[in-house]
Amino acid sequence: MKEKKPPFDPAEYARFLRENDAEVGAFLEIASGSGGTFAAPSVPAALAATGNHPPVAVKDNIAVAGMHLTCGSRMLENLVSPYDATAVTRLKAAGATVVGKTNLDEFGMGSSTDNSALGTTNNPWDHTRVCGGSSGGSAAAVAQQLVPVALGSDTGGSVRQPAAFCGVYGLKPTYGTVSRYGLVAYASSLEVIGVFGADIHQVAQTYRTIAGADPLDQSSLDPPDTAHSDARPTIGVLQGDLGLSPEVARNYAATQQALEQLGYPTAPVTLSTLEYVVPAYYTIATAEASTNLARYNGVRYGYRPDWAENPEELMRKARSEALGDEVKLRILLGTYVLRSGFQDQYYTRAQKIRTLIRRELDEVYQGVGMILMPVFPVQAFPHSGSLDAFQQKVADRFTCTANLAAVPALTVPTGLENGLPVGMQLMGPAFSEERLFGVARELATVMPLQFPPGTRDYAAWLREGAQARGGS
Ligand code: GLN
Repeated sequence: MKEKKPPFDPAEYARFLRENDAEVGAFLEIASGSGGTFAAPSVPAALAATGNHPPVAVKDNIAVAGMHLTCGSRMLENLVSPYDATAVTRLKAAGATVVGKTNLDEFGMGSSTDNSALGTTNNPWDHTRVCGGSSGGSAAAVAQQLVPVALGSDTGGSVRQPAAFCGVYGLKPTYGTVSRYGLVAYASSLEVIGVFGADIHQVAQTYRTIAGADPLDQSSLDPPDTAHSDARPTIGVLQGDLGLSPEVARNYAATQQALEQLGYPTAPVTLSTLEYVVPAYYTIATAEASTNLARYNGVRYGYRPDWAENPEELMRKARSEALGDEVKLRILLGTYVLRSGFQDQYYTRAQKIRTLIRRELDEVYQGVGMILMPVFPVQAFPHSGSLDAFQQKVADRFTCTANLAAVPALTVPTGLENGLPVGMQLMGPAFSEERLFGVARELATVMPLQFPPGTRDYAAWLREGAQARGGS
């Protein structure tokens, strides 16, 4: 019997990635293409192939067996994962192939991917600008049409913000609906694996594939069966001065209008806790980070200094030499807020604010089905100069709310302003993912996703190659 040829050649796909990622730098590692077949390699083809899953890119803080797991850090530069994260296991079981690992801010700490120690990722729309972060490589890979779907992680906005910067969909699911087994921990009580995509149906399909309780993660759970009703939910819109750039403010109003034209009732909402979100988030996130990152001590795995006099020096050298400035800053901050005698002043207080944020949202959701929110106050900013590390943290106020309250939020691409994409987020109550997908699907009919000019998907690249070879 003749051997059945895979529908697409994995080695050829690797070549497609290398060529088309050269200017963007979304990938830290590209799978060599040995073994495996791709169920549905291009966006249109993947759409047609219901039941199949496309090639996926995975953020390099999520474990894929046999591939690196660097977390964008010198500390783990040479680490190869011996196992798959549960989300990856489930995608593979559904027929997907992991084609590469994507760049990120070191350990997920940042909003630009410029905090990666291992490479620079450019925004596919403007190479002088950042792609957002921390899952910037995954967002850029989807925008550049390198993959139709990618995984990221969202601790305080790291899926939704780069999705907005690159003009693609980005889902942060309800906390616990996706297993964190195989996700390298940054701030465990806040983070969840999320999905990027160029098509909302595929994002939904991918989410359904990776969601569900996992015995390997005690905090994971099965999302309850919340049948999506056809009734149009009322959408809350934030009032007052939100501190947005003129472009983002204009787009926020335009998105609200588009939803109203589609027949969605809107209602004004105010979140009085909004101004406390960033201090609460950075207190809790750094506290958890300081304990989670204590394991990188140069002893069991990871970077090891050439020489040390004693174990303490080994540890000090390993951490001093292999961790970046932002990571060090956060470990120090986390240690500071947790130090004995001061917990009430910082950590406990932040937890109380977290409860207030949750309660306020519960109340708001009595009146509206979801909230339309900006993702970030500005569009993708230039690599250097315009937004310093502190300003970037202050700008996380719209995204961290969903993490502190453990609720789902979905970035939807809402068009271009000055030639750069803008995205808005739909944030709903716990387990309302299907409702968010429903609204996003309708919004896509009037605000369709756009790809950067000059980019092409795998199918187009193959065709061009065939023409270049004389139509063979
Ligand atoms: N900008 C946030 C931070 O630096 C987001 C991080 C994330 O979601 N991983 O903490």
